[in-house]
Amino acid sequence: MAELHDVSKHYGDVAALHGVSMGIEEGELVGIVGPSGSGKSTMLNMLGTLDRPSGGLVRIAGHDVGALSDRRLSALRATVIGFVFQQFHLSAGVPVLDNVADGLLYAGPPLRERRLRAYDALERVGLGHRLRHRPHELSGGERQRVAIARAVVGDPRLLLADEPTGNLDSRSGAGVMELLRELNAGGTTVVIITHDRDIAASLPRQVEMLDGRVVNGALL
Ligand code: ADP
Repeated sequence: MAELHDVSKHYGDVAALHGVSMGIEEGELVGIVGPSGSGKSTMLNMLGTLDRPSGGLVRIAGHDVGALSDRRLSALRATVIGFVFQQFHLSAGVPVLDNVADGLLYAGPPLRERRLRAYDALERVGLGHRLRHRPHELSGGERQRVAIARAVVGDPRLLLADEPTGNLDSRSGAGVMELLRELNAGGTTVVIITHDRDIAASLPRQVEMLDGRVVNGALL
């Protein structure tokens, strides 16, 4: 599903990644763990094709990211990858149904179909009864479920989650983790950045980072 070969990333004179090589198989559930500043977010940006490496090779779903134009890269991102963030990133004041339907804007089916698929995705995350609510009318756990519904409404093969439980109490966090496991059991490859030792320990595989290097669990 994803391969990094000798990938480095520099921000000015800061090296956020030093020659990282690692692989993620289709269907895996993987945690990326390590202290603050170790390069986890930079790694997720590479996997999500949100940023290009300074050196090395990134291959996502068989595509050499460095060889794609910006347009093809946007298409890859929109059709293959779903993102979930700690801060949810929902549109304020927009009903839940349309927040999720907007996840299909790039693919471009008509509004009616976008809403039907959004409804299905919201049912999947247990929020089929909250379609007309606005984000501020929901709990943190419910907001994160909406964000997950939006991330998966286009059926991405790869779901990348950056501290998805970081803003949640432990009970809501456990619910969100259960949902991510269900999506993984349904075939989606799921990668989760987490600070939480217990969550990390509960995942089948952990990629451990330190000072911009993978120190354990690289697979490649
Ligand atoms: P983590 O997610 O593990 O906290 P990051 O990937 O965010 O780590 O950061 C790794 C290193 O790269 C840190 O030293 C950070 O300060 C630096 N860094 C990350 N993004 C930028 C940026 N946009 N500009 C400058 N330095 C950055």
